[in-house]
Amino acid sequence: MKPAPFEYVAASSAADAVEALRRYGDEAKVLAGGQSLIPMLALRLARPSVLVDINGCTDLDGLTESGGTLTVGALARQRDLERWARTRSPLFAEALGWVAHAPIRNRGTVVGSLVHADPASELPALLLCLDGAVVARRKGGERVIPADKVYLAPLTTSLESDELATAARFTLPPEGAGWGFAEVARRHGDFALVGCAAVLALDGTGAVSHARLGFFGVGGTPVRSAPGEAALTGQQPTAARVAGAAKAAAAALSPDGDLHASAGYRKTVAGTLAERVLTAALGRCRRAG
Ligand SMILES: Cc1cc2nc3c(=O)[nH]c(=O)nc-3n(C[C@H](O)[C@H](O)[C@H](O)COP(=O)(O)OP(=O)(O)OC[C@H]3O[C@@H](n4cnc5c(N)ncnc54)[C@H](O)[C@@H]3O)c2cc1C
Repeated sequence: MKPAPFEYVAASSAADAVEALRRYGDEAKVLAGGQSLIPMLALRLARPSVLVDINGCTDLDGLTESGGTLTVGALARQRDLERWARTRSPLFAEALGWVAHAPIRNRGTVVGSLVHADPASELPALLLCLDGAVVARRKGGERVIPADKVYLAPLTTSLESDELATAARFTLPPEGAGWGFAEVARRHGDFALVGCAAVLALDGTGAVSHARLGFFGVGGTPVRSAPGEAALTGQQPTAARVAGAAKAAAAALSPDGDLHASAGYRKTVAGTLAERVLTAALGRCRRAG
């Protein structure tokens, strides 16, 4: 199939793109890396009448780390984040290795992946676990949407149709924190059947001072596990407590079943992966003080 006809606007700056979104509203779609949008156009799963191409908006490019926050511009490719991660964040490096394949990551943007909001995507779960946010700009104003307010349903975020996501922010884990990341997919590069990420930090007594546990592929949106985190926070992380936290986290999930995996399978795998990533995170922690 070929895409339905559309008008094409090549924006040359963020302001230009925002003006086009104001003009065309919900008839328009932003074109970033095109790795999700172009197949959807070709299959006519999306039929916008206008495409606003942001690839010429150099003011949206770049990746900066400052004061414990990583800011990723809307034009930064997944590959740019992978390069940064090589020396700065093994958690991002591990997660990105699971995102599609190298040619797709060369073109696909980090922000495009976050706002495309596929519930089986890796990066949205990291946005949740790293207390992240999406910066949204519309004509006349900007707002910062915290990660827990971004995801509403599959492929649906709280971004309005006249808003451009200009950047994403990730809060880097505290000093000495450990991480874990695991995923089950049918083939390497496929979207996850189930995935899980964890970040843990310990205080001077060895108790858990910071716990983040997130899942993807287990429902309509990525989720942070309040019961899993609560079971560990302030506690000495014995193997039994970690197993209990993983069990509590999996019990609170309501995954869907589909032709790839049943709901029961996803729930069981989620519990196993949670225990695995929490154990890995603990093994990488250094005690504070
Ligand atoms: C074969 C294949 C396998 C893949 N496997 C995986 C995988 O395992 N895991 C994974 O996470 N992803 C996977 N992907 C998707 C890939 O990561 C995409 O690059 C990503 O989801 C979208 O990023 P993009 O920059 O290409 O966005 P686009 O395709 O250009 O846009 C996607 C959507 O986001 C909107 N959008 C993009 N940028 C903005 C913005 N700045 N402001 C507002 N709206 C915006 C678009 O309008 C569109 O609706 C795969 C893709 C392919 C083709």
